[in-house]
Amino acid sequence: MADQADERGGRRGVGAFRFESAELAVQLMGRVEITVGDLTELPVDAIVNAANASLLGGGGVDGAIHRAAGPGLLEECREIGGCPAGEARMTGGYRLPARWVIHTVGPVWQGGSRKEATVLGACYTESLRLAARNNVRSIAFPAISTGIYGYPMDRASEVALRSVLAWLVAHELPERVLLCCFHDDDSLILREAAAGFGLQL
Ligand code: ADP
Repeated sequence: MADQADERGGRRGVGAFRFESAELAVQLMGRVEITVGDLTELPVDAIVNAANASLLGGGGVDGAIHRAAGPGLLEECREIGGCPAGEARMTGGYRLPARWVIHTVGPVWQGGSRKEATVLGACYTESLRLAARNNVRSIAFPAISTGIYGYPMDRASEVALRSVLAWLVAHELPERVLLCCFHDDDSLILREAAAGFGLQL
């Protein structure tokens, strides 16, 4: 993997992400999938919640996850006592098909000069780190920060892919990462971003 350290540090642009071999790109294509639909219905080991810092539930995907999981989830979240932006916390999945929920707090978009990309990248990396530590084999992410928090989908897609790919080239777990879009339009933007990394997803 060329430029891995650079990618981790986020100092290089998207175009700088290069694969050492076509074989590696093909391998990664087998581990990353773009899907359209409701995250709460996915039969994966863990789903990621785009939570707010209180971890006490909210609108968007957060509300959908709490509704589907039932009151046990809120109770466990209350015990955690919050989570700063760019970090992640893990709970059970309760009534969800997923065994675990990894709650991460994305940045609120403020125009792009307030370290939003660094924080968003950390959401993906820290969620993956927590997943790997708990032997999670399959994980599904929503498009963190692109709803109520206003992060433009094209920019968020680049950050998400850069972080996920950098993690996968260096780690065996999770084996599979699903990027779950709620709308078709978002999945097209994400696919375009993947093409920018040389991946056909
Ligand atoms: P944030 O506050 O981080 O922006 P939102 O929940 O408002 O979080 O939006 C994040 C993304 O999740 C948006 O792209 C939104 O369309 C998407 N989303 C909302 N509900 C669901 C769901 N049930 N499954 C998958 N994605 C969802």
